[in-house]
Amino acid sequence: MSFLVLERLDKTWPDGTRAVRSVDLAIEPGEFVVLLGPSGCGKTTTLRMIAGLEEPTSGRVLLGGQDVTRRSPAERDIGFVFQFYALYPHMTVAENIAFPLECARVPRAERAVAVARVADRLDLARLLGKKPRELSGGDQQRVGLARALVRKPSVWLMDEPLGALDGAERLSMCEFLREQQQEHRVPTVYVTHDQEEAMRLADRVVVMNEGDVLQTAPPAEVYSDPATLFVARFVGSPGMNLLDDTESGDFVPDSPRSATGRDESGKKSPDSVCGVRPEFVRFEPSSALRGRVVVDAFHGACRYVHVETPIGRVVVRRGAHERVEVGAEVGLAFDPRGVRWFDRASGRRLA
Ligand code: ATP
Repeated sequence: MSFLVLERLDKTWPDGTRAVRSVDLAIEPGEFVVLLGPSGCGKTTTLRMIAGLEEPTSGRVLLGGQDVTRRSPAERDIGFVFQFYALYPHMTVAENIAFPLECARVPRAERAVAVARVADRLDLARLLGKKPRELSGGDQQRVGLARALVRKPSVWLMDEPLGALDGAERLSMCEFLREQQQEHRVPTVYVTHDQEEAMRLADRVVVMNEGDVLQTAPPAEVYSDPATLFVARFVGSPGMNLLDDTESGDFVPDSPRSATGRDESGKKSPDSVCGVRPEFVRFEPSSALRGRVVVDAFHGACRYVHVETPIGRVVVRRGAHERVEVGAEVGLAFDPRGVRWFDRASGRRLA
């Protein structure tokens, strides 16, 4: 049985904004699910409805098989980590972290052990005697996380909890969160607009836009088989190349999975869009698809070369040491295994 179930969850604000549109989601025990989407797509509202901080306009929230839709946050046994850490200013770091255990009447000695353990894991041991105002923003955010992680609730809800951290620290915190979750198997719903963070953390990613869930799938599937044009653009850095099929028909081989993208007479349909990730495009001197290099960007482990062609700009992934001159004319070929077709009008991927 799924541990957390959202059934046709809907939220319309008094001004008429429909922030969340009939969201269905079932989260398994021990699963790490990430709600991913641009600002304003309804991620936080969905999370707050799970927590009981916001009342749904319609739909249900089930926790462990029980309908908790009308229950208060306190009756849901939820650990919530906010983007803004809201530490108690008059308490020390140690007292802040211990607070949820104190509320749960955990004996003092047990509290001390739990606080020391989580502080050690989050590199906070040297700060335990300080007050929040004496800490940097990043340290305060780690204290906020420690306070949430010190207790093992039925479910962890996290709203952009790494927002105040810089690149390297963010990466190591992602690994830490993943470790914590794998160790304790507490089902987790995590909100972010950062697709790389989502890919790194999630067992399954839920991609949202304008209140709708567009796709729910493991990260590798969201990346390789995006359900819509929006997902294809939003996930991946850079996103998928999306090419006008009216023109690209002569150059792009059909996906071996189907002959979609063609109408009955065998002509390419102008109503479809061809998508291909940069790693499925290669330089091919004999190819009929020609273009001019406009950008050669070094990304450490690889380079992304942008080529202006008659069917649009195509980004190609190349080896880190395969430099190419800007202005050079090149031929391009697509690996059919990486080609995906989308319906232009609905944005949906063709089967
Ligand atoms: P962000 O990452 O920027 O927080 P989000 O995806 O979490 O974005 P929400 O905060 O859930 O998005 O907001 C969804 C929509 O609901 C937006 O249009 C937002 O302006 C609106 N909204 C959010 N909270 C309220 C509120 N309390 N009253 C009215 N409208 C709201």
